[in-house]
Amino acid sequence: MYPASERARGAGETIFASMSRLARELDAVNLGQGFPDTHGPSRAIEAAVRALRAGSNQYAPPGGVEPLRRQVASLWGARFGRTLDPDRNVTITSGATEAIAAACLAWLDPGDEAVVLEPAYDAYLAAIRAAGARPVGVDLGTLLEGDRAALEAAVTPRTRLIVVNSPHNPSGAILGTAALNTIADVATRSDLRVLSDEVYEFLVYDGEHRSLGSVPGMWERTLVVSSAAKTFGLTGWKVGWALGPEQLVREVRSQVQYLTYAGATPLQLAVADALDDIDALAPLVREPLRRQRELLVRGLEDLGFHVVPSQAGYFVLSDFGLLRAETSHEAALALAHTAGVVTIPVEPFYADPARAPKLIRWSFARQPDVLSEALRRLRTALLDGPIESQGTGALR
Ligand code: PMP
Ligand code: GLN
Repeated sequence: MYPASERARGAGETIFASMSRLARELDAVNLGQGFPDTHGPSRAIEAAVRALRAGSNQYAPPGGVEPLRRQVASLWGARFGRTLDPDRNVTITSGATEAIAAACLAWLDPGDEAVVLEPAYDAYLAAIRAAGARPVGVDLGTLLEGDRAALEAAVTPRTRLIVVNSPHNPSGAILGTAALNTIADVATRSDLRVLSDEVYEFLVYDGEHRSLGSVPGMWERTLVVSSAAKTFGLTGWKVGWALGPEQLVREVRSQVQYLTYAGATPLQLAVADALDDIDALAPLVREPLRRQRELLVRGLEDLGFHVVPSQAGYFVLSDFGLLRAETSHEAALALAHTAGVVTIPVEPFYADPARAPKLIRWSFARQPDVLSEALRRLRTALLDGPIESQGTGALR
């Protein structure tokens, strides 16, 4: 079992909070933490104002307000080609983050293991450790290349859960049918539960997203998690949901009752309203991001960074060969201090940070003028030759 001090590693300042703080301190361009710098769809904002004024300001039921559960059941039921019961198959959470934490607390005991695909969003590692369990990393790249051996080898008699994230943060990769089938096969053979984080499902620029919950045989063992944060560009609202078979949803909801009891009533009602118009709103959120991805990727490539193609989401990974830095952590600090551009190092996405590759993450969820200013600063900094490492002292 992990001692409390070890579990508390997930309770310090996250890398996203830390780098946003650094951006404020240095007055740097913040291409780190994933949030759009736009207002969000006015339909959703107006619906929230109406809900507040109408007096919808008391506790929601622990499963979430009924209109939102109904919307999620109907829309995701159609996506999965099955009828979902708004009460039994859907539960609303305070962002996808709470769904992830609740699932790990509900399903993992001290001494258990949970497999994550690395790089893995930091909240999985923290939630798994908070439950007293141990995250076991499997390189996402091996799975995308069609190699199943690493995933099979990671599963032991102590494994209870596989955490999957597609579209993926930080790479922007989408798991194709072959990778999804491999996960399904391994999970079924070892009778494992799967947490499938699909928060970027509507922000797909190349290729097609397929939910793990729709892979034959997976519905009964998979909890699918999504969020209004990414779909509508409303990260500060913290409205997310989990859907799946009745038993899994019930277990997650019972944890949610003691974590937050319920999320913000007026915001849940506003998200229900926005989902009513998702076909019109999703492209309004997605298409500017597509253009911003192109602007950032082209700009970084012109400067000489090698960019890993990103199909979806907010992020793109690149190498940092233009910098004199040994680690991702050092590279991100050097960029922040010397160029005035904040990125995210990838060490926090690894159960064992020493295994992190030489990559850094850039967010393109920023207005074109912000991205252009970041590129201008990088160009200026690189005129003086390779950007020098500043060490790793300033990051906690
Ligand atoms: N999962 C992934 C992969 C994320 O990038 C994020 C960050 N937004 C979350 C979950 C958390 O979502 P929310 O803000 O809805 O809690
Ligand atoms: N998901 C966002 C990212 O990856 C951050 C959310 C957060 O700060 N918790 O940057």
